Amino acid sequence: MRVLDSITGMKAFSRQVRASGKSLGLVPTMGALHEGHLSLIRQAKRQCDVVVVSIYLNPTQFGPHEDLARYPSDLKKDLEVLGAFKLDAVFTPSTSEMFPRGLQTYIEPGEIASTLEGASRPGHFRGVATVVAKLFNIVRPDIAYFGQKDFQQVLVIRRLVEDLNLDVRLVVCPTVREADGLARSSRNLLLSERERETALVLYRSLRRAESLVHLGVVSAQKVRQEILRAFEEEPAARLDYAAIVEPRELKPVERIEAGTLALVAARVGDTRLIDNLIFGPPGATPEMLLQLALSGQRITDTAARIPGLETETLRQRIERCRECAAISSVLLPPREFLAKYLQRDYPDLNAVRVAVIGRNSPVNADSFLYRNPHSVDRFSQALFELVGVRDFEEFRSRFILTDSTRCHATDTHIPEKALAACARHLRDELKLFPNLESIVLLGEDAFVQFQRFLRGRPLCEIPPFATLLRDQGWAREDLELPFLGDRRLKVFYCYHPTIGYTRSPSIAALLP
Ligand code: AMP
Repeated sequence: MRVLDSITGMKAFSRQVRASGKSLGLVPTMGALHEGHLSLIRQAKRQCDVVVVSIYLNPTQFGPHEDLARYPSDLKKDLEVLGAFKLDAVFTPSTSEMFPRGLQTYIEPGEIASTLEGASRPGHFRGVATVVAKLFNIVRPDIAYFGQKDFQQVLVIRRLVEDLNLDVRLVVCPTVREADGLARSSRNLLLSERERETALVLYRSLRRAESLVHLGVVSAQKVRQEILRAFEEEPAARLDYAAIVEPRELKPVERIEAGTLALVAARVGDTRLIDNLIFGPPGATPEMLLQLALSGQRITDTAARIPGLETETLRQRIERCRECAAISSVLLPPREFLAKYLQRDYPDLNAVRVAVIGRNSPVNADSFLYRNPHSVDRFSQALFELVGVRDFEEFRSRFILTDSTRCHATDTHIPEKALAACARHLRDELKLFPNLESIVLLGEDAFVQFQRFLRGRPLCEIPPFATLLRDQGWAREDLELPFLGDRRLKVFYCYHPTIGYTRSPSIAALLP
């Protein structure tokens, strides 16, 4: 592991990496490394050929009365921790190296930096943006890694990248917590034992808010009250702010939706702590919640190379693949792809009530309904009749159409492993819709795959499809799917519309 403390040395290293055609990931930190930082490093190592961690305790992001002097710092220990990671390089510049002549040119972030942390810590994001821009220029990474813990910081840097056309992609990783829920933070080292106990109120308040949301409360005011109550019960913590906001500009909302965010900041003793939580359907993974919050946002083509695992072939395969909306099994950061499909196919996640799943139904991307909403073929005509809508516009206002096998399988024979991977996709995709009430499965293959992989039934216990559908041409089952929490779903089994021998009669009257 190279320890580089000069800008010249770092630039030379980066030039070398780029000349060799390898991808370069950067994890910027202020040191006092903990599991949160290490999770970013692990993700970077998975995705990039070469990983650089920077350790720089940036004075320009601290206000004159803030805790720069107390901020934990132990470079020797950090380097020991990093030793285990077989990193390529650590960039550890001093302040005289970073700012030899002070600073006359700043990056001044706009409105996104003016609320919450920006309001409480004037000048903070100016310092962050300026140093991050310097780091990007020095290290020239393909991907830079940031933590959800500092959600507003992510948005500030995202705007920086977009506004100044920087060729870097951002990957955001979920917040890593202690076993009792306290978000990992270098500042936790400053807490006494008692203060550490008090500090648990941040996460506790967020979890109480989340429980209300999962019970169906959508009023942001009511949910915020719950957060305030948790703080009232812990007077040793002084709340700085508690906000419920949308994830794009962090403006307060009245109604909570999937992807809405709660953020808190509080002082415990002399230490200021922050935390946040993204609301989403029960059972959603942290990655999925992050996607919900970040995916509605514009994606910029930064012209960055596709690094690491994202080989060009793989990228093309995904681009070509039939709208594999969840994309998550493909071992790469799904956000950009997901964002694209979500924006185009599912403009309002909350509006979707019914998922229609047909194996291999619209495998050919060019004839796929989302791409050609006006092209009516045998499949779409029969589908619209089955669920009782006039056209695709009406269909997409309440339904999603998806596939149970996707890109892995354009063949009739699909290997087991691919089927399981597709089912994982499908599970992730279904989790995106907080108001899903019904699932319609088209055809025997989709039925069997659903039974096996989503319901977890062994093959020998699955009833024969034809027997099940014999009486009415369709069958219905009401059930819970563990990965969707405890909501009850109406599941319909129907014939596949393109299989001519029998058609299921309309089930429109039974759908929401
Ligand atoms: P810092 O050293 O505090 O500037 O943090 C460096 C990076 O690590 C930032 O992108 C943080 O958002 C991220 N980070 C800090 N704490 C955590 C955590 N508990 N989980 C995930 N990422 C974190």
